[in-house]
Amino acid sequence: MRYVSTRGASPAVGFVDAVLAGLAPDGGLYVPEEWPTLTREQIAAFAGQPYAAVATEVLAAFVGDEIPRETLAEMCAEAYAGFTHPAVVPLTQIAPNGFIAELFHGPSLAFKDVAMQLLARLSDHVLGQSGRTQTILCATSGDTGGAAVEAFRGRANTRIVAMFPDGRISEVQRRFMTTAAEDNVRCVAVAGTFDDCQAILKDALADASLKQSVGLSAVNSINFARIVAQAVYYFTSAVALGAPGRAVAFCVPSGNFGDGFAGYVAKKLGLPISKIVVATNSNDILARAFQDGRYTRGAVAATQSPAMDIQSASNFERLYFECVRRDGLETARAFKAFAETGFIEIPPQALAAMRETFTGLSVGEGDTSRTILATLNETGQLIDPHTAVAVNAFHRSRDLEDPVVILSTAHAAKFPEAVAAAAGETPVTPRKARALAAKAERFDHLPAEADTIKAYVRAFAEG
Ligand SMILES: *Cc1c(COP(=O)(O)O)cnc(C)c1O
Repeated sequence: MRYVSTRGASPAVGFVDAVLAGLAPDGGLYVPEEWPTLTREQIAAFAGQPYAAVATEVLAAFVGDEIPRETLAEMCAEAYAGFTHPAVVPLTQIAPNGFIAELFHGPSLAFKDVAMQLLARLSDHVLGQSGRTQTILCATSGDTGGAAVEAFRGRANTRIVAMFPDGRISEVQRRFMTTAAEDNVRCVAVAGTFDDCQAILKDALADASLKQSVGLSAVNSINFARIVAQAVYYFTSAVALGAPGRAVAFCVPSGNFGDGFAGYVAKKLGLPISKIVVATNSNDILARAFQDGRYTRGAVAATQSPAMDIQSASNFERLYFECVRRDGLETARAFKAFAETGFIEIPPQALAAMRETFTGLSVGEGDTSRTILATLNETGQLIDPHTAVAVNAFHRSRDLEDPVVILSTAHAAKFPEAVAAAAGETPVTPRKARALAAKAERFDHLPAEADTIKAYVRAFAEG
């Protein structure tokens, strides 16, 4: 299996190189040269299988012969053994045709665990095979850092440095990072904002000498392995509801469009998905793109669903490439222009192709809160604000005839203030996360200066 860049100007690489590189050298994102497919029989056989077994099959379709199947199976089994529900991603029902897929039973209580747990094992394994090590630098506004530290702590060939803006994330979010006792983890409270942390990360990644000497890399959602890991729960949920014998629709809360594109990947593999509703908060660039064909960056507004406060959805480039019939030159032109003008006019044929699968809806703050309360009243379930955005979009999508799976991306206890304000009830923190409160924290304070942080990363990697 070979991977090509969406911008058409990088050589094709294998799965391992695509995973280790992240971004392609021409600035594009990697996609498979040709889509693999699973037969109807293969998909039907997922019924009743453990989650890790389905993950192994889906992953194997993309890895080709670069990693032996038994190794993949071991990684998948290990990655999902730490989830606190035996189904890994269980379904609950909230309406006659509405089902919630709970993606939050991993160690950091948010759906990023599902992909990160697997990515950590995959990348650490391939590094070990080639005798290399890596240093991951990560900037977090809350959730990604916890998921990354949980996934990479204790890995033999990886060091991780997690930066967070001092005093600007919740105590629970901070403790998911700072209580890791393993030697390969460092946490840094940066005296600045999340934007400062991100600027420092960009500066470090652009520093060729640092990159070379410490094997610097990042764990952003553009990594194709993360997308593949996310396609797995589309299969387990749809098959539980009768696929491939009947079609299923999905409602997906979206920021960077990682989950949305993972659904497209599942469909390409052969899963009968009739519709994917992309639900955004008031940062609605994706909803507008599917509605009126204009992909236009706006100002980022702070909402109750902060993980979706994004106004340029990296994975949208992959869908664009697909829908302009894999024209790399056109994709490069469009996204280079977007970086400067903040605007892409989607060609009519490409828009029509997108709309065969996707529709977009944006959900305001009042509706998000009301949906948390209404869902509690109607079903007894407390949902988090990200999930509420998708549930609201589900209720507004009256034309969906197939069963609908709504992706629930975070545990309500991860956003206790917003949930309590909306529902008048404080969610109960799961037992494992409560234990963090008693653990010792370990982190360093550093100024928001790229040079200081780069020196810190270098000293950590070399010492
Ligand atoms: C990251 C995240 C999202 C957005 O997911 P994308 O795949 O980036 O669109 C939604 N909800 C939560 C809780 C998240 O952490």
